[in-house]
Amino acid sequence: MDTLGRRFEEVLIVNASKSSKVQVVPSSEYIFSVYQAGRRYIVCLERKICTCGRFQHDEIPCEHAITVLKHNNVTYMHPYCSDYYKPDALEKTYEVAMVPMPDKEDWTVLDYVLEKLSYHLGTEGWLDDQGIEERKTRMRR
Ligand SMILES: [Zn+2]
Repeated sequence: MDTLGRRFEEVLIVNASKSSKVQVVPSSEYIFSVYQAGRRYIVCLERKICTCGRFQHDEIPCEHAITVLKHNNVTYMHPYCSDYYKPDALEKTYEVAMVPMPDKEDWTVLDYVLEKLSYHLGTEGWLDDQGIEERKTRMRR
């Protein structure tokens, strides 16, 4: 079973606590109207969206989505959360951030690269007019 990062478990708990005292009315298999404090929100579980905008924006169930999930007796909410929130993904993000910058000494490769590039381009005939003409001639044949 996969788990979510601790912070996002907490977000789920907070959203879940807000989800009481609301009414859920199903419109279809995946689409539900949620009535909360005189306002109506529409949640689509299939597309993971809510008219409050937070479900799709945060990619974690908002209080309305949680209400709907609870209404459907869904307690396992991880499929409705972005992979981004799972520890694996967080670690991967961290890994990338942890790649050390090369030493400044290693930055001065530009001349070498340019030299190498111009060598290849030169022999390919891209740089001089003659080479371009040759290529055009070859393409016409
Ligand atoms: Zn919502």
